[in-house]
Amino acid sequence: MAKKKVVMIGAGLAGLAGAALLARNGSEVTVVEQLDSPGGVAGRHTEAGFTFDTGPSWYLMNGVYERFFGLFGKKPADYYDLVKLEPSYRIFFGDGTTADVTTDPQATEALFERLEPEGGKKIRRFLKNSALKYRIAVDRFIYREYRSMLPFLNPALLFSGLRLDIFSKLDSFVGRYFKDPRSRQIVEFNTVFLGSSPYRTPALFSLMAHADITEGVSFPRGGVYELVKALHALCLEQGVRFKFKTPVEKIVIEKGRAAGVATSAGFIPADVVVAGTDYHHADTALVDDRYRNYSARYWKTRVIAPATFLILLGLDRPVPGLAHHNFYFASDWKRHFDSIFDRPSWPDDPSYYVGVVSKTAPAMAPAGGENLFILVPVAPGLPDTDAIRASFSRAIISHVSKVIGVPLEKHIAVKKIIAHRDFEETLHYYKGTGLGLSHTLFQTALFRPARRHRRVKNLYYTGHYTQPGIGMPMAVIGSELLAARVTREMGLGRGGG
Ligand SMILES: Cc1cc2nc3c(=O)[nH]c(=O)nc-3n(C[C@H](O)[C@H](O)[C@H](O)COP(=O)(O)OP(=O)(O)OC[C@H]3O[C@@H](n4cnc5c(N)ncnc54)[C@H](O)[C@@H]3O)c2cc1C
Repeated sequence: MAKKKVVMIGAGLAGLAGAALLARNGSEVTVVEQLDSPGGVAGRHTEAGFTFDTGPSWYLMNGVYERFFGLFGKKPADYYDLVKLEPSYRIFFGDGTTADVTTDPQATEALFERLEPEGGKKIRRFLKNSALKYRIAVDRFIYREYRSMLPFLNPALLFSGLRLDIFSKLDSFVGRYFKDPRSRQIVEFNTVFLGSSPYRTPALFSLMAHADITEGVSFPRGGVYELVKALHALCLEQGVRFKFKTPVEKIVIEKGRAAGVATSAGFIPADVVVAGTDYHHADTALVDDRYRNYSARYWKTRVIAPATFLILLGLDRPVPGLAHHNFYFASDWKRHFDSIFDRPSWPDDPSYYVGVVSKTAPAMAPAGGENLFILVPVAPGLPDTDAIRASFSRAIISHVSKVIGVPLEKHIAVKKIIAHRDFEETLHYYKGTGLGLSHTLFQTALFRPARRHRRVKNLYYTGHYTQPGIGMPMAVIGSELLAARVTREMGLGRGGG
């Protein structure tokens, strides 16, 4: 029997993971990607001897990748080496104090004890709760796709769900444990990974503290792009074909079924089409209006995740005092979150992230140099002009210089800014967001956009808009869910993930 033809639009992490699985499951997969290389937002920039990952930099939840490669009888170590980071990250607080977060439980308790009375006991209790939530989420939720509330009528599932604190907000939940604003910031910052804020995201996501504090942070030697290369290699091993520099212009729908895609290089027929792109782009630009899965009003009323203002700096000198992953947390960080979600504007005292991969991978910068990646979360949809880029980046670089006591401006060999309009123009990201759809309660789990088109039954979606959501591990898990569903519904031959 001839193999079913699947066209995967987009070679981002989700597209790659889905393509590899669908090929393994017995279909003939072609990935059609507009850019000239795989990775999507997990991109790479090289200039004057500096190598930058231009998107994700935190490699968390190692078990997700172990499981994924295991589906092919492989391990991540067959493709890349992981280095465990110690400290996991360093924090510079607005009051001038600093903290190193490590995976050593005693050091963690000592750190929180230093921050507030009985802090050690409090963080122990908090992490115990996070570990429980993490386990429930992995065992019962994130590897399952929910399409209605019906399964929650099952008492066991309902009970598990209630233990996840879905209905309280993270900040008030954290307030039950900690009083010192710095302790709270340490266990709340990771809501930014979810495209949200501690004031909006459900307390369920305190489980993230288990991932970054207890499990810790790893780094693929050579950069996060090693994961992209691994998934690309895996696809090739599974016989997936790639067409790069081939933008899809239309998903061609005939008699209510996706017949294939119209591209800059001609029509590619398909039995199944998967859009691994920004969902809004697929739903507005790639189908005729009558085939939109969601209304204009739906898109207008979504809470869109932050955009990311990125400054890549190649420096001609080392920067002592910084670890591989660093944060600056402004004392009044609520004001910054408000500037993202409530009163969209450029923040005047933002919190931000500074990554220095050359601390772990010296080869990513020329000898004696250092490689900085600064990320400031900002509101999506802000005006992004050259003048704003220049003044905002100047302010941030000057702030980082003050915080670390190194005059960065004088040592810049390479500088590149990536912001809203790059995400919009290069990746077709809605409103220039970096992360898609924020994880508020009503945009989580079954409330995320549908995996399959409501009427066009052979048109599917994957990527960070769909379940389970934002982040590299979630993109991979989402494509496991995709592959299982397409395989089952389209009769591709082999069930399972
Ligand atoms: C700055 C930044 C930092 C981040 N940091 C982290 C982190 O530290 N850890 C973490 O886990 N996650 C992080 N994330 C989130 C994570 O990177 C994403 O959730 C994930 O990579 C999304 O993958 P994706 O495949 O869904 O989307 P994408 O990477 O966007 O892939 C979609 C692909 O579709 C292609 N495409 C679009 N339109 C078309 C078209 N018409 N025709 C053909 N191809 C098309 C695009 O070119 C792209 O290659 C970060 C994101 C950003 C922006």
